[in-house]
Amino acid sequence: MTGPDIDDLVIANATLVVPIEGADVPGGWVAVKNGFVRAIGPSATEPPATVRLDAGGCLVTPGLVNTHHHMYQSLNRDLVIGRTFTGLVDWLEFYYPIWERVDEEAAYLSTWMSLATLAMDGCTTTSDHLNIHPRRRLIDAEISAAREVGVRFHPTRGAMNLSKKDGRLPPDSVCESIDDILADSERLVKTYHDPKAGAMTRIALAPCNPFAVSHEMMIAAAQLAEKLDVRLHTHLAESLDEEKFCLHQYGCRPIERFEEVGWGSNRAWVAHSIYANDEEISALGRWGTGIAHCPTCSFRDTKTVAPVARMKAAGVKIALSTDRMPSLRGEMGSARRAHLQVHGTFLSARELLEFATKGSAYCLGRTGELGQLTPGAVADIVVWPLAESAVGKTSDLLLEAWLESGPLAPRDTIVNGKFLVKNGSYTNPKYDEMDRRHKAVTADWQRFVDSR
Ligand SMILES: [Zn+2]
Repeated sequence: MTGPDIDDLVIANATLVVPIEGADVPGGWVAVKNGFVRAIGPSATEPPATVRLDAGGCLVTPGLVNTHHHMYQSLNRDLVIGRTFTGLVDWLEFYYPIWERVDEEAAYLSTWMSLATLAMDGCTTTSDHLNIHPRRRLIDAEISAAREVGVRFHPTRGAMNLSKKDGRLPPDSVCESIDDILADSERLVKTYHDPKAGAMTRIALAPCNPFAVSHEMMIAAAQLAEKLDVRLHTHLAESLDEEKFCLHQYGCRPIERFEEVGWGSNRAWVAHSIYANDEEISALGRWGTGIAHCPTCSFRDTKTVAPVARMKAAGVKIALSTDRMPSLRGEMGSARRAHLQVHGTFLSARELLEFATKGSAYCLGRTGELGQLTPGAVADIVVWPLAESAVGKTSDLLLEAWLESGPLAPRDTIVNGKFLVKNGSYTNPKYDEMDRRHKAVTADWQRFVDSR
């Protein structure tokens, strides 16, 4: 972890502070002490601090929080493959043999670069779903990368226990036995999970999807999560293929199966949930199961997106997620366009910002601690430069201008009171070296693709 260590900071003179919980503060300030927000307030009441950061002409928000990602897939983002896919199953079948190559170096580099890229776009906490385990200790490698980068990290112990030998999709090499999955999950929680306020690392359990995970695995994961008091995550109702598969294999719809295996609760948050009917949406709201909405990848894979406006109205908590995309800030714009096109619904900039902060904090089980700027919340803060035309506008208009016309990149990204991005520059000196090594792995994968 690099960057100046500041234990007494005030970010002052902001054009607008949006604390998410509580009223916006034009001309406001945020005071930080020892990694936590100490206070916020209007101009002329600013407290003294060791370091004063002027945020004139800028919007100040909580750091964005990402609830679903597959960081190892950053290594295949630039592959030239020369084909398109008919759907999720076709796509998975193509990529599994490539992902068999993931080792500790690949897990470390892909996490390092994904976290750095997210931080450069204002994301200060992220989850990751490492759902393939062709080798051991990949999540350990991810966590060592996260500690170097300094982004708050919620790796989820992904798992698949049904493979080709069971008549399922994934190759045997990326799957494990239930016993091995549970033992490694427990090891990871005992080694790395920090339940305290302000934790930088928390583990969740995350069997992958109904194609590759048995009832027994789902039930055992829910029981272990209860015993260890950690959260649960999975893909749910992601495609029509999944719906057909569940009806054929299990005799019920994906969300019915989710309830049947004991996952319908506020301990779980789920990725996608595109194909949820009204009854299922009500159930998700009743259970308190949060949705990690992934606009770009959902739209690309299925030509549709989860009906989040209807879900929100039914009391479902919505988070915004990158899935395989690099930028959560970018997903806010993608969500707006996808929802207008698919559902004819307009998601306001404030609503999208709330999904990406408060909604995401809920999914990670950290309401009140992440995704808001209130006394006692963590000091994860982003200072966004505004277009000059936005300055002086009402809060809602200013947020709209920020979403549609503001620069994507923040001026400053602060996590745990430390600068990861300062004056528009990423502070970690290892970036160029990591970028080179990341590209070298992609080049190796490209040679493999070309040889197939
Ligand atoms: Zn996913």
